Amino acid sequence: MKIVFATNNLNKIKEVQSLVPSHITLVSLEAIGCQEEIPETQDTIEGNAIQKATYIKEHYGLDCFADDTGLEVTALNGAPGVYSARYAGPERCSESNMNLLLTELKQKNDRTARFKTVVALYHQGEISTFEGVCNGEITVVRNGTGGFGYDPIFKAVGYSQTFAELSLAKKNQIGHRGKAITKLVTYLNLL
Ligand code: IMP
Repeated sequence: MKIVFATNNLNKIKEVQSLVPSHITLVSLEAIGCQEEIPETQDTIEGNAIQKATYIKEHYGLDCFADDTGLEVTALNGAPGVYSARYAGPERCSESNMNLLLTELKQKNDRTARFKTVVALYHQGEISTFEGVCNGEITVVRNGTGGFGYDPIFKAVGYSQTFAELSLAKKNQIGHRGKAITKLVTYLNLL
């Protein structure tokens, strides 16, 4: 089965590609000729995932899935959450986002946080969603060069390394996106 993964983020494609079995072929946005930025204007992670999947169905007529992710920090009442990409400004710069988050947490004792991913699948006229959560904490300094986004400052519960120090396979096994995509794959195999 072929299915469009509605993202332009090559890191996400790499992660998801290694999670789906070989009979599921991922089709990129580039491959369907979609170069525009897909709107993400909802105020929940789930809402944005659904919005992205619906956009592709409406504009390209294709079944697809999309993911949206947020980093929810306890001491910041769940921020940056759905606004994680633009936390430090509209340029969506991961370095600036991490700098701002580390500054905001300087005076806080509670550094617990969680990544949450919602995957929205548009399939045969129906939308289904799949959630994955990974609990952890924000480190005091960056560590590691792998991964993307906030990975250098996030440590999952039970791990001494940040996501940016773990292998792709390990991040997929314990991470938010891996958990959501595993649920999606189970669902697709049932169809
Ligand atoms: P989005 O899901 O692409 O909208 O991502 C929202 C924000 O979270 C962006 O700043 C991403 O770089 C960041 N992000 C998404 N997934 C991950 C992840 O797996 N690790 C670290 N940061 C992530």
